Amino acid sequence: MSNATSGEAAQIDGFHLLIEALKLNGVENIYGVPGIPITDLGRMMQEEGMRVLSFRHEQNAGNAAAIAGFLTKKPGVCLTVSAPGFLNGLTALAHATTNCWPMILISGSSEREIVDLMQGDYEEMDQLAIAKPLCKAAYRVLHAEDIGIAVARAIRAAVSGRPGGVYLDIPGALLGQVIDEIEGAKSLVKIIDPAPAQLPAPEAASRALEVIKSAKKPLIVLGKGAAYAQADEVIKEFVEKSGIPYLPMSMAKGLLPDNHPQSAGAARSLVLKESDVVIMVGARLNWLLSHGKGRSWGEPHSTRFVQIDIEPREMDSNVEIAAPLVGDIESCLSALIDGMGENFSQPPSEWIDAVREKRDANVARMAPTLQNNASPMNYAGALGAIKRVIDKKPETMFVNEGANTLDFARSMVDMHRPRKRLDVGTWGVMGVGMGTAIAAAVETGLPVLAVEGDSAFGFSGMEVETICRYKLPICIVVFNNNGIYRGTDQNRSGGTDPAPTVFVEDSRYDMMMQAFGGEGIYATNPDELQRAVTEALESGKPTLINAVIDPKAGKESGNIGSLNPTSAVDGGMSAEALEILKKKAAQ
Ligand code: ADP
Ligand code: MG
Repeated sequence: MSNATSGEAAQIDGFHLLIEALKLNGVENIYGVPGIPITDLGRMMQEEGMRVLSFRHEQNAGNAAAIAGFLTKKPGVCLTVSAPGFLNGLTALAHATTNCWPMILISGSSEREIVDLMQGDYEEMDQLAIAKPLCKAAYRVLHAEDIGIAVARAIRAAVSGRPGGVYLDIPGALLGQVIDEIEGAKSLVKIIDPAPAQLPAPEAASRALEVIKSAKKPLIVLGKGAAYAQADEVIKEFVEKSGIPYLPMSMAKGLLPDNHPQSAGAARSLVLKESDVVIMVGARLNWLLSHGKGRSWGEPHSTRFVQIDIEPREMDSNVEIAAPLVGDIESCLSALIDGMGENFSQPPSEWIDAVREKRDANVARMAPTLQNNASPMNYAGALGAIKRVIDKKPETMFVNEGANTLDFARSMVDMHRPRKRLDVGTWGVMGVGMGTAIAAAVETGLPVLAVEGDSAFGFSGMEVETICRYKLPICIVVFNNNGIYRGTDQNRSGGTDPAPTVFVEDSRYDMMMQAFGGEGIYATNPDELQRAVTEALESGKPTLINAVIDPKAGKESGNIGSLNPTSAVDGGMSAEALEILKKKAAQ
């Protein structure tokens, strides 16, 4: 690390100050794409003992960093080049911020003096200004002696309070600056208590308990904030001691096993509609929960909410919160558990029985569909195979994206352990798959199973090369139904181009993996699929299984044609309107 020649005071450069600042604070893995001006930074990071994972596209590296933040409670770090590389990484930074996951995007940038005078530098862009509205905080470092403070600020901003994304702008010139080595070492900051516990006010806890005790039909909703908090024991104690049914949001599945007697996962419609008091634990009342109002919440019957969240401004965001409990989940739930005392009475048995009956009926109804052995497979048949593998191998990291592939897997594949289900998050964004799978393998060392719609896979599919290069224990299953939603759409114009939602028929995604030395497998029925996934997870070899799904099996989600009853989507324009357009065109 020293540039000293005999007799001179030892010096340290910006490269090494940045590396030491990150290492000092426990950052071990870097996800990025090399290029100007950060190519040498990556080399030196590797030389200094960090694990540097080079991707094929910054968005995938960024998605890896985002999910690393979710899994570890430490910021995942993504490293990119200037302007275009920065912009590619920015989508993931915004995604991390939206999901409340800690991440730091470090991008190299061009000469400040030239950028600010807009004189046309190589990859010129005012990256700091562009990043600001899309993340929690954005900083630029101009002097080597400020690197330690900048890294400390970035980490604190990312992990404290409501976690989120932070942008750190590194002008190329900074990396080459040198300062006295001793002064440099002194300038680095080892952060003490980066995400301090936030205790709820005692009166807020008493108020919450009063509301909970008044309930006839209480419900707990566990969100991915609860999974992030790593307060697994306290969450289990609160749920079990209270006896209240709980509903896990997608990425909170497995905090308690999905077959837990209090799980209301398979009775979702009933519990949302009928519950009178809902305790939100690290979950937001956003679109994923119909904003806490309307028909799915049984309106006009009214629901009272207790909400536990570290972010005060989350309270009353969509509906009135009867008992806001602001603090970290572990502290808040501990306060509630203490307040419940020994003689807390369990919810009325009519409610418990009603939830259990509904859940058992739904589970029983689904069970035979998961045994469907048809070839080509439908979603239930293929997911039945996946479910059976996960039931036997509950330690598997499960990554999931797609349309039908996501929606069906969420309800059909049970999770048994915390933070095993990694998916599209708050935005429902497609393209997170391979970045997520890679970070899951790198951060946990466990086998990863990524179940991907063929469309979703396409956004990050080139990263199969990255998976092979680093020899990661990742098994990808592509649910190949020849298209988006369904593979059967027709071009409505009668022309020869395929319909916008259709892909090449019978594509061989398995051969993409073979191209880079991994295992490629073609599976046409659930037995084959189950066997291939099991073998892949046991061997730890990079594997891609092309699972042939019936192109007619899927359905379309979120079609907005129905929002406008006179929509041109189906009927087209009236003769009169067409006449007007014809005249305009002739002008
Ligand atoms: P889901 O999509 O699963 O419902 P959300 O991402 O909408 O989950 O909600 C997560 C919530 O958890 C956010 O409002 C965030 O502020 C909160 N949160 C994150 N970490 C903690 C924590 N340690 N303690 C309390 N709340 C947290
Ligand atoms: Mg598809």
